[in-house]
Amino acid sequence: MDLREDVDMRIVVLAGGIGGARFLVGVRAYAREVGAEVTAVVNVGDDASMHGLRICPDLDSVMYTLGGGADPERGWGRAGETWTVKGELAAYGAEPTWFGLGDKDIATHLVRGTMLTAGYPLSAVTEALCDRWRPGVRLLPASDDRLETHAVVEVNGEQRAIHFQEWWVRYRGDLPTERFVFVGAESAKPAPGVLDALAAADVVLLAPSNPVVSIAPILAVPGLREAVATSAAPVVGISPIIGGAPVRGMADKCLSIVGVECTAGGVGALYGPDLLDGWLVDTTDEGAEVPGVPVRAVPLWMNDEQATAAMVRAAMELA
Ligand code: GDP
Ligand code: CA
Repeated sequence: MDLREDVDMRIVVLAGGIGGARFLVGVRAYAREVGAEVTAVVNVGDDASMHGLRICPDLDSVMYTLGGGADPERGWGRAGETWTVKGELAAYGAEPTWFGLGDKDIATHLVRGTMLTAGYPLSAVTEALCDRWRPGVRLLPASDDRLETHAVVEVNGEQRAIHFQEWWVRYRGDLPTERFVFVGAESAKPAPGVLDALAAADVVLLAPSNPVVSIAPILAVPGLREAVATSAAPVVGISPIIGGAPVRGMADKCLSIVGVECTAGGVGALYGPDLLDGWLVDTTDEGAEVPGVPVRAVPLWMNDEQATAAMVRAAMELA
C-alpha cells in the first residue's frame, strides 16, 4: 500500500457510493492520460451488518464500478445478479427483508466477514477484495473503525435513531427526521494510508457525492477534515446538485434536514472556504457564488467516461 515513487501527480478523491464511483471512472481516465496516481477515500457511514454479513455499500459500489462488475442500470450491486438467497431469507421471515442482497454480492460479504473475523482491518480486507477487481485506483475506507450514520427520526410519535440504510432503503427518507449522527465518529481514526495520501497529494477532489451522508461522515473522522483543510494541495469540490436538483438519489431530503438549500451554491457554502479552494458547478448554475471560493461552471453530467474525465480536467485547471 506504499505510495508509488514513479508518479508525477497524486490525486486524492473523497467519495461516496454511486456518485463517487461514476466520478472515479472519469478520474481514472484522466489519471491514465497524465500518469497520475489516484487514491479514493471512501465513506464507511453506510456500512451495516445484516443476516450475519458485513456490508459496505459505498466501498462495494466503487469497487464493482471501477472493476467493471457493477450493474449499470441499478447503479449498485453486481451485473447479472440473481436473488436466490434473498428469496430463501424471506421464506424464513428473516429480517430485514427490505435490503437488496444479491447472490454474487453475498460472496463479497462472506469473504469480507471471514477476514474481519480473522482480525484483518477493513482497509486490508478492501485491498484483498481489490486483488480480484483491479479498480486501477487505490481504495481506502475513511476509517477501519466503526462509524455508522444514523438518522434521528420520529416513528409512531416516538423518537429513535435508525441506521441510515433503514432510513434510506426501507423508508425512502420519508420520516420526520431531526438530524443525522455519525455513531462512533469521535473515537474513529483515519484508516492507514489516509493521512499519508492527503499529505502527499497534489490535489484533493471532493466527488459530487451526497454532502450530508457521504462526504460529511468522511470528514467527521477526527483529523481527517483538518488534513484536507490544511493540506498544501488545492482542494476542489464538484457540485452534486445541478439546477437545484440532486440528479439521482435524495440529496435534497438530506440537505433540507441539515438546513442547507438544495443548490450548487448552497452545497459549496456548506463546505465553505475553510475546505475549498475551488468549486465546480454545472453550466446551468453559471453565476452561482460561494463566498470566499472561486467558482467555475462546466457541464457536470456524468453520462459517460469521456464527459466525466472532462469534468476532472476542469477541476484540475481550477486547482
Ligand atoms: P451513494 O453513496 O450511492 O448515494 O452515492 P454518492 O453519495 O457518491 O453520490 C450520490 C450523489 O451523486 C447524488 O446525491 C447526486 O447529487 C450526485 N450525482 C449523481 N449523478 C450525478 C451526475 O451525473 N452529475 C453530478 N454533478 N452529480 C451527480
Ligand atoms: Ca452511500
